Amino acid sequence: ERRLAYAELRGPAVSADGVRIGLHMNAGLLIELMALDETGADGVGLFRTEFQFMVAETLPRLSAQSAVYKSVLDAAGERPVVFRTLDLGGDKVAPFAPSTKEPNPALGWRAIRMGLDRPGLLRYQLRALILAAAGRPLKVMFPMISAPWEVRAARDMLDRELRHAERAGYVMPSDVKVGIMLETPGMAWALEHAIDAVDFVAVGANDLMQYFFAADRQNSRVSDRYDVLSPAALDLLKRVRDICAEHDTPVSVCGEIASKPLEAAVLIGLGYRSLSMAAPNIGPIKKLVSGLDVEKLGTWLASRLQSPADSLRPLLLQAGEDAGL
Ligand code: PEP
Ligand code: MG
Repeated sequence: ERRLAYAELRGPAVSADGVRIGLHMNAGLLIELMALDETGADGVGLFRTEFQFMVAETLPRLSAQSAVYKSVLDAAGERPVVFRTLDLGGDKVAPFAPSTKEPNPALGWRAIRMGLDRPGLLRYQLRALILAAAGRPLKVMFPMISAPWEVRAARDMLDRELRHAERAGYVMPSDVKVGIMLETPGMAWALEHAIDAVDFVAVGANDLMQYFFAADRQNSRVSDRYDVLSPAALDLLKRVRDICAEHDTPVSVCGEIASKPLEAAVLIGLGYRSLSMAAPNIGPIKKLVSGLDVEKLGTWLASRLQSPADSLRPLLLQAGEDAGL
């Protein structure tokens, strides 16, 4: 019954005071894209390309990689898709990947670090993405960027592949946009120095909060111990959104917090206008958005952020109750 109720909400997410919020879906498997129509998602905000690698016994060939990306673009039609390049290492292990036995895998040789050190793998993937996008827009996003030089190095690699494709006479993507996942506090502080090199930013809040609070996202003893609605975390999220706004750089949030009602409301109150989440959460968040007065929420939040508290959670719950939600 609930499913049916959400199915009625296939249109765009618009707040009670008329603010349009982009709601995109996270996916890692082609089959998940069937939910695009059902949920009325605006697109795929995060396609986790490593899934194909994690279930493979050997490195997927260029043609196999490209076939998956092409099918994803076909399934999405006019809707945009953001492909995240391989995010292996840490909690994501591929059977054939270089050894990941490390004392602290979450802080170790993972994601773009592996990609830049073993350029063969990343270059190959970029080539597959370019091939798949032939004649269509391509959005590529690099994970776990921790310093501006990594953005530039990754972008150089993509440019090189684009030149190679052009020389080889491939049908080129109609447009190429490059983004980063903002997942480390260090990068949040260096964002101004890298933003000229990116076309969009996606906050990977699962990892960003893990590193911000030094609390392992996979360890339930500590993962829920620190509240993302605490002033310190909100300051960080606000800082990132404000820098992006100053530079007219589109920004979205694609960690778990985007799909939790209080957190999503707060992100919107901080100024975020684009969220990406697992498909089943899109309906409920769309419903939440339709009940929000975004301007009021922003003003309320700004005043609360002035007065330090442990967490805004109790206040928000109270405010919700008062509003009859
Ligand atoms: C994140 O870190 O918030 C994120 C969206 O990526 P993943 O969960 O795949 O690490
Ligand atoms: Mg991440």
